[in-house]
This record gives sequence, structure tokens and C-alpha cells, in this order.
Amino acid sequence: MTRDDARALDFTDPFAAWRDRFALPGDVVYLDGNSLGPLPRAVPARLADVAERQWGTRLIRSWNEGWIDAPQRLGARIAPLIGAVADAVIVGDTTSTHLFKAIVAALRHDPSRRTVVSEAGNFPTDLHVAEGAVACVPGARLHVVERAALADALDDDTALLLLTHVHYKTAERFDLAAWTARAHAAGALILWDFSHSVGAVALDVTAADVDLAVGCTYKYLNGGPGAPAFLYVAPRLQDALANPVSGWMGHAEPFAFQDAYRPAAGMTRWLVGTPPILGMASLDAALDLWAGVDMAALAAKSAALFAILAEAGADAGLACVSPTDPERRGSHISFRHADAYALTQALIARGVIGDFRDPDILRLGLTPLYLSHEDVWRAGEQLREVVATGAWRDPAFAQRLAVT
Ligand SMILES: *Cc1c(COP(=O)(O)O)cnc(C)c1O
Repeated sequence: MTRDDARALDFTDPFAAWRDRFALPGDVVYLDGNSLGPLPRAVPARLADVAERQWGTRLIRSWNEGWIDAPQRLGARIAPLIGAVADAVIVGDTTSTHLFKAIVAALRHDPSRRTVVSEAGNFPTDLHVAEGAVACVPGARLHVVERAALADALDDDTALLLLTHVHYKTAERFDLAAWTARAHAAGALILWDFSHSVGAVALDVTAADVDLAVGCTYKYLNGGPGAPAFLYVAPRLQDALANPVSGWMGHAEPFAFQDAYRPAAGMTRWLVGTPPILGMASLDAALDLWAGVDMAALAAKSAALFAILAEAGADAGLACVSPTDPERRGSHISFRHADAYALTQALIARGVIGDFRDPDILRLGLTPLYLSHEDVWRAGEQLREVVATGAWRDPAFAQRLAVT
């Protein structure tokens, strides 16, 4: 692939018009949109309006002028991105909190089943929260096994299979429908974490008959740092599952101020406390970017971007740990290198922002809405050069920062 080849691909790029809708600095190639999506240009004005007009002048009246319904309204906007009906998704809390609520609810759903099965090497918060959740339910336990042993780990004690759909390190993608069917065949529920999937790959929870799903909005959805996460509960389960964090915002009548908890109908019962309106406002503006996005075209461009970096990595002699089949991966590419941390830092110093995942992974996010083929080609050139020249050996690049 030459620079001209990359430019030729940009010429027919269906997403060329999206780039100007993001406020990306000109001197970086941003390959970390799978960790913190960049700022959509529409966000600052929206935040200013919420702060100055809605909060500043409308004050508490704003709760009745659109704030109180924000969790449901944003859920309805995320629903099409995961193939859900509009009222099966709610926004609020963090992915970690949604995981806790969903795991405990699944364990309480069928007390004859006591085990939560998950994958070794799953994203840490998923395993940490699962550990905390089983400790809250008498008799419950967490069984963590390697991917190859997952199918055999399902049995008549399995209450829940907890999987992250696209692996945060390798980008390996589970077959959504096949694993959901496998969990159901064992009589278990399934809870998918879509943090590295939503906005990256096409999802259809309805067709796959998924029970529960959670996901992040500050990665591929560009909602902003700490933007609230979403929870999906299949309509057939909504009345049968109870939120263990029974806060007032999930009450049937929060402003009746009753002593006893009575859950709201539908997804509203999954709310806990007051919705974070500022984070929701930036997410709302960011979600406008998904109007008119064809997920098949997005996947095709992601595959083309992947091919550019796969070639550069191979030229540099790096081992790619991401699947070669686009159907079996998400939208990032990872390379293994003994000094991946220094390599990541050396690339950042050259304006190519990716990230490092302990202990030896260089991870580069491929976000088709705002990356051009030429951007990614330039990143590939830097990767070749940093490895060929040994530039990463500069001791300055070995200094570990708090956030990698
Ligand atoms: C990013 C990510 C999270 C983040 O959880 P927070 O509670 O929002 O910090 C959770 N799970 C997975 C798989 C992730 O990739």
C-alpha cells in the first residue's frame, strides 16, 4: 500500500464528510477512539446551552423541560445501534454499575442456579464486579475459565454467562447469536458487554435473542469522558428481573416520596439516582453523528484500515494478535512486543496516539467515522520507522504514566 493507494481509497470514502464533524487536532493521528472518542464539534455548544440556559436560567424547572426523561430518551437513541426496540435500553450510571445490577438480578432470577461463568482475561471491571456481585448473593460463585473451556463450563448450575463481545486487548469477537444460543441451551441467561462493540460493529440483540447487555458510550460513541453507560434488558425479562440497587429514580413514583420501594415498569426500574445531565448532554449531541451511518459500509472501511496497519506491522516484524477474519474481530488492531509500552510512547511522541495494554500489547483503534486511509497509512509509516530505527529505546519512553 502506497500513500497514493490510501488517497485513492479516501476519494471514494462514504464517511469523508464525517471528519469535519469532529474537533481533531491536525497534528495527530488519533488511534485511541476505542478508549476515549474525540470531541464532536457540536458538543461544546450543547454543553454551554445546558450550563448557561438550562441550568443557569431555567434552574430546577429544567427537570420538567427534558432532563428527567434523558435516560429513556438516550436509551431510545442507542437502541438502533444494538438492534433493540426503543424502550429496552436505558442510559445512566457506569458500565461497572450496570454490570453489578444485571449480575445480581440474573442470580436472583432462578435461585436453583448459583454460578456465573466468565472468561479469564475478560476486561478487569467485568470480573471484579462479578466477584463483588456473587459475594452479595448467598451460595453464588464465579467460575472463570479460558475461552476454549467456556462451552464445557456451562451446566445446570449456570445462572449467567458473562462475556465481553469484542475483547479489549486482541479485538477477538464472539459470535453473538451462537453464544447466546449456547447459554440458553444450558438454561442460563447471557449478559454481553458491548463496550468495544457498540459503534464498532453491527449488533442485533433482538435477532440473537440476547437477555442482557451493557456498554460504554465514551469509546466508539464519542460521548465524552465518563459519559453514562447503557443497559439493555430483553422485553420478555423486564417484569421478571429486579434491580438490586433500588434507588428512588427506579421507583414507580419517585415524587410520591414513599418509604417502601415499588419498582417502576419497564427499563425505568434500572435507574438508581439522579441522572448526570451534563454527561448526557454531550452524549446526546454525539449520537447525532450516527444518523445515516451504514454499518456494513463502516465495517468495510474498518477492514480496509486494518489491512493498512496489518501490512505496516508485518513490515516492522511485529506479531499481530488480532484475528485476520474481519467477521471475528472488532475495530482495533493489536500487536505484541516485549517493549510495547515504550513503543506506544514513541508513537505518541510522533503524533500517533494509540495505547498500551499491560503487559505487552500495542493497541490501535480503527474508527472509520473520522480516520482517513491516509491518516492510517501515515501511522503505519511511523510504526515502521520507530521499530526500524529503534527510536522507542529512548529511556524517556519507558517512564510509566498513571493512565496507559
Ligand atoms: C471500557 C470498558 C468498561 C468501562 O467500565 P466503566 O464502568 O465505564 O469504567 C467496562 N467493560 C469493558 C469491556 C470495557 O471495555
